[in-house]
Amino acid sequence: MENISDAARILRDIRGRIDRAAQAAGRSGGEVALMAVTKTVPAERVNQFIDSGVSLIGENRVQEFLDKYDSYHKEGLKIAFIGHLQRNKVKYIADKVDRIESVDSLALAEEIGRRCAAIGRRMDILLEVNIGGEASKSGFAKEELEGVLPQIAALPGVRIAGLMAIPPAAEGEGAAPYFREMEKLFIDIKHKKLDNVFMETLSLGMSGDFETAVSCGSTQVRLGSILFGERQSQV
Ligand SMILES: *Cc1c(COP(=O)(O)O)cnc(C)c1O
Repeated sequence: MENISDAARILRDIRGRIDRAAQAAGRSGGEVALMAVTKTVPAERVNQFIDSGVSLIGENRVQEFLDKYDSYHKEGLKIAFIGHLQRNKVKYIADKVDRIESVDSLALAEEIGRRCAAIGRRMDILLEVNIGGEASKSGFAKEELEGVLPQIAALPGVRIAGLMAIPPAAEGEGAAPYFREMEKLFIDIKHKKLDNVFMETLSLGMSGDFETAVSCGSTQVRLGSILFGERQSQV
């Protein structure tokens, strides 16, 4: 049976790999946050990782999240929503998550802003960029970003905290050109110093490519299967 110490061992191992990838790139491991992506994982198992030091989790599906929300050990825990989000579901999560990373349209940003302003908060959001220009993926085209940034930044109830991307599936270092392009966008936008635009988080890297992402400037990796094991069902 797996237990808490097994979660702690996995975390130590992965944290070590993040730190080494950062150091090899002349960065510090402390610049890279580790998010545990919980889809399909029972709350009890997620809690073992939280108890072992995970302080940030990522949620993909609204219903699954709501089912598990009450069970999570929430003290000191930050929760990010990272899955495709329908506008009519925003109301269910607006008071429960700390950040929404999968903002892929102006209309979604408007709904988040409206719902959050109504409950007196400002939601940290990341803009999702379809960096590979894939028809199958959501996200803003990179050419679109410059135009929508000021529009979204002007909305009440949101605060633009960074960028997120899922590059085209690639082996090993294959995602590096996409990650580098994201880092360039992130830095260019940061230099513009737009009102209500804070380029703090560059969310790049999953189980198969997190070390490459760290070497290309990621400030947050989103890890599911490498922590919790392969998922039974595809999400
Ligand atoms: C599932 C998922 C992840 C984690 O994927 P793994 O390959 O299991 O690490 C990261 N980000 C998003 C948006 C996901 O949906």
